[in-house]
Amino acid sequence: MIIFKVGQQLSKYLSSLNNTITIGFVPTMGALHQGHLSLIAESKKKCQLTVCSIYVNPTQFSEISDLDAYPKPIEADIELLEMAGCDILYIPSTEDIYTDSKDFSFDLNGLDSRWEGPLRPGHFNGVLNICKRLFDLVKPSEVFFGQKDLQQCAVIRKLIRHEHSQIIFNQCPIIREKDGLAMSSRNIRLSDQARKQAPAISELMNAALLKVVDIKPEALGVWLTSQLNAIEGISVEYAVVVDTIDLKPAIDWNWPTALLVTCKVGGVRLLDNILIDSK
Ligand code: AMP
Repeated sequence: MIIFKVGQQLSKYLSSLNNTITIGFVPTMGALHQGHLSLIAESKKKCQLTVCSIYVNPTQFSEISDLDAYPKPIEADIELLEMAGCDILYIPSTEDIYTDSKDFSFDLNGLDSRWEGPLRPGHFNGVLNICKRLFDLVKPSEVFFGQKDLQQCAVIRKLIRHEHSQIIFNQCPIIREKDGLAMSSRNIRLSDQARKQAPAISELMNAALLKVVDIKPEALGVWLTSQLNAIEGISVEYAVVVDTIDLKPAIDWNWPTALLVTCKVGGVRLLDNILIDSK
């Protein structure tokens, strides 16, 4: 695996390659786990060259304490990427990736005003700006993102349609621990007790799925919220059924929908979702 720390060198290297080579790109913030590695595997399956980036982007954190607490095990990450057969790793510094202070934005048609948007002010603007800069540099044929961050997927799909229409977007399934907990770099912050409680999120989401069609989407969100809040140590921020394009609250089961949940378990914020096939 070749490691680049300077964007210009990375882009010079990539543009020296035969331009028929397909480049798959997996942007991450590091602290890698099997979820991230599944994206690398998917990229290797579909593309001839796989590029991964590791950058803990400060502009997508609304709280400095959250940014400071973010794990940065770079040596272990490099080893995992080597083992996964990643071809190129880009680890930019802030000076390297933010070469100017241009702020890019476009109308997300309300997508950023829902769910994670108001709870993490500036988050999606930060995601848009870092992804646009990375896409401009890497010029990937395809990008690979996790369904785990469903709202982020919806935002990136819009970014690609708006700015990079040549890129193919891949939304990859959520990789879970054996007990159903969605893998996340934040899981290591869970206390022993919170770690035991956290699988209740996916258990109850699966129980909710059994009610699909029989009750309205809104009522399903209300049911799930009350079930989760009834567990000591869990507090729900939102548990809702949404359409999978704009993530608006779903009013019936006629569209592709997803059950979207964010809750705190022992003070740690965990996100999860399940796509609903109501056909
Ligand atoms: P992050 O490092 O948290 O920014 O995540 C980098 C990419 O990995 C994003 O596209 C995430 O959605 C994806 N990802 C994180 N956790 C998982 C998981 N459990 N399964 C699949 N993809 C994941």
